[in-house]
Amino acid sequence: MSETKKTLLVIGSLNMDLVVTAPRHPEIGETITANDFHTFPGGKGANQAVAAARLGGNVKMIGKLGCDPFGDQLFESITRNGVDATFVTRDPQTPTGVALITVDQQGENTILIVAGANGRVTVTDVQAAAPAFTDAAILLLQHELPQAAVEQAIHMGKAHGLKIVLNPAPARELSDELLAEIDYLVPNESELSLLSGLNSLEASIRMLLSRGVQRLIVTLGGDGAILATPQQQIHVPAFCIEPVDTTAAGDAFLGAFTVALSEGADLREAARRGNAAGALTATKPGAQPSLPTRQELEQFLRTRASVKD
Ligand code: ADP
Repeated sequence: MSETKKTLLVIGSLNMDLVVTAPRHPEIGETITANDFHTFPGGKGANQAVAAARLGGNVKMIGKLGCDPFGDQLFESITRNGVDATFVTRDPQTPTGVALITVDQQGENTILIVAGANGRVTVTDVQAAAPAFTDAAILLLQHELPQAAVEQAIHMGKAHGLKIVLNPAPARELSDELLAEIDYLVPNESELSLLSGLNSLEASIRMLLSRGVQRLIVTLGGDGAILATPQQQIHVPAFCIEPVDTTAAGDAFLGAFTVALSEGADLREAARRGNAAGALTATKPGAQPSLPTRQELEQFLRTRASVKD
């Protein structure tokens, strides 16, 4: 891997996760007594930025928080983890984004997301963050911000010669023009199927490649990941672990994958490191608290073999 550390620019959401654990989900109109309540810093944008920074990436984030205590806590959380938050702004009119999560005894969850300040990131905000694009090498985005802001960032990233990594989560329509600007499209299996409108993994991969996607990386949970380009398709096996909570496994994959790319790794090695970070995250509860450090990742890679194909 090369010595120079290239900057990774993440534009995305910051949410406070409000997590209630209950014996079961309440019916409509029903009130039940829950077991406990915790708050965790979250949001796909912030999770991926923190994942990359913990793994030694040089990370800058663009996003928006409210002027409230959740905003203060989220700002503190990303900066404590080494993310440069110069371009994370505060909106005095709108509360910080939240995710209301209920988890039942079987571990099944329901999630309501209130976008709050995330929903107020505008094209003008992205333009105002132009200095962040000048020294970056990679732009990492998800779909938890308004589409106009996401598209503006992709256009600006392209104009500055950045490699564009899009995690299309949650899945939404993508035009062929936009797909052609993406260097690495990284959906999970259900996002891939929503994007293609097809159930079969193989047919979905073929369809997205035929629409102009250059490099498609599909994360497959306990089955690892598939790398597909117009030239080849490779399965990169998962690491064998006992999953405890797979929340943020995808975010850890994206963080490790992009840090590896920024250090000069090839596609297969970047995915192998993504698989390792995803597996490590799945062994611990919570989102940001479960994301591995560089040391934990290297130790895991030294001692663990991946599951054979
Ligand atoms: P998401 O969290 O976005 O749904 P996935 O479930 O595909 O994404 O998980 C992302 C990555 O995390 C996978 O590609 C894999 O490398 C790793 N991972 C997730 N679950 C497991 C598991 N049960 N065992 C091993 N690795 C896992």
